[in-house]
Amino acid sequence: MTEFGKSGNVFFHIDVNNAFLSWEALYRMRELGETEDIRELDAIVGGDISKRHGIVLAKSMSAKKYGIKTGEPVVSAKKKCPSLQSFEPHMWYYKERSLELMEVFQKYAPVVDQYSIDEAFLDMSGTYTLYGAPVAFAHKLKDEIRDTLGFTVNIGISSNRLLAKMASDFRKPDRVHTLFPDEIQEKMWPLPVEDLFYVGHSTASRLHNLGIHTIGDIAKTDFNVMESNFKSHGVVIYNFANGFDFTLEDRTEAVQKGYGNSTTIPYDIKDSEDAYHTILGLCESVCTRMRRDDVQALVLSVEIKDSNFLVKRHQRTLLSPTDVTDECYEIACELFDELWDGSPIRLIGVSANKVTDGGVRQMNLFDMDTHDKRKSLDNALDSIRDKYGSGAVKRGSFLTTDKKMDKYDR
Ligand SMILES: [Mg+2]
Repeated sequence: MTEFGKSGNVFFHIDVNNAFLSWEALYRMRELGETEDIRELDAIVGGDISKRHGIVLAKSMSAKKYGIKTGEPVVSAKKKCPSLQSFEPHMWYYKERSLELMEVFQKYAPVVDQYSIDEAFLDMSGTYTLYGAPVAFAHKLKDEIRDTLGFTVNIGISSNRLLAKMASDFRKPDRVHTLFPDEIQEKMWPLPVEDLFYVGHSTASRLHNLGIHTIGDIAKTDFNVMESNFKSHGVVIYNFANGFDFTLEDRTEAVQKGYGNSTTIPYDIKDSEDAYHTILGLCESVCTRMRRDDVQALVLSVEIKDSNFLVKRHQRTLLSPTDVTDECYEIACELFDELWDGSPIRLIGVSANKVTDGGVRQMNLFDMDTHDKRKSLDNALDSIRDKYGSGAVKRGSFLTTDKKMDKYDR
């Protein structure tokens, strides 16, 4: 067998260990000058207990020992651990850390697909001659992130995204794990069904009722039984349990054809202003990458996934190709408005396709003037960011939404 990574697909899934707690710890030490590291305390990051919606977003290792769970009300967490210290989240700071992390990824990986604020898939296929064996390189990358950014990650490695994602979830923190197809039986099948990607609480309890308790049990269950009990979702998890990753593979192709970015939101988005804010961040990242590569896109599409995992997509061909953030943002918001029926959203994606080389832009009489102004704004923002880092300047709407979210959380 040839050595892994010399040919064929190589995917990394990189996941920040306890992201919100780690980033809040950095915020308090670096921005507020506090000396205590909240990772060492009985601590959580969560909302205000005087508000009903105050829930635990992250917990320290010692808080976890009291049985505190992510998503439970802060009030009930405090009952479990009276000495518990609760810190309100600073999302703007976390977003900056997230951007910094994605920049490290983009330095090395040909294709980076951000999956949520603290996770990304890196398509490392074909990088053997650049970086050597993938597993050894992953160790270097993990150490670089820890030593330069001040927080730790887990890296999962495999020949497809699903297995890489499963692997990054093995023992934490600060570790590299592999889950190659020939390791599935030994490393993945003994795990409880709850650990399988896309198996939520209700699916898990229905599986248990059928006597299916481990991922191996799913893999060995008759395909037709899975399909008749769980419909298309059953087909997906049956394939996942056997290590086949068709849904996530489709994303790779979509990403390679154009420039795409999507984000899974840690809470359900229910109003359009929050959605627009997310869309702006996505357009910013997609357009920045296009400008870096000196290309422009003719087709823009928006994808949303609701809390039942139902995915909807909508796209539009533009009058002339663009790489301008504000132009993409306006169109993406229109696409979103046409697409959204008001149900809670878990994921939003924006992608730019039919990419052409930059340079000569076809004349579009309707937007010529504003296009040039916006283009020079983008160029100015890009050069400031190149010099001072991604957090150096923010667009107006980011600032107002951050304020709004702060108020909401307080
Ligand atoms: Mg994480």
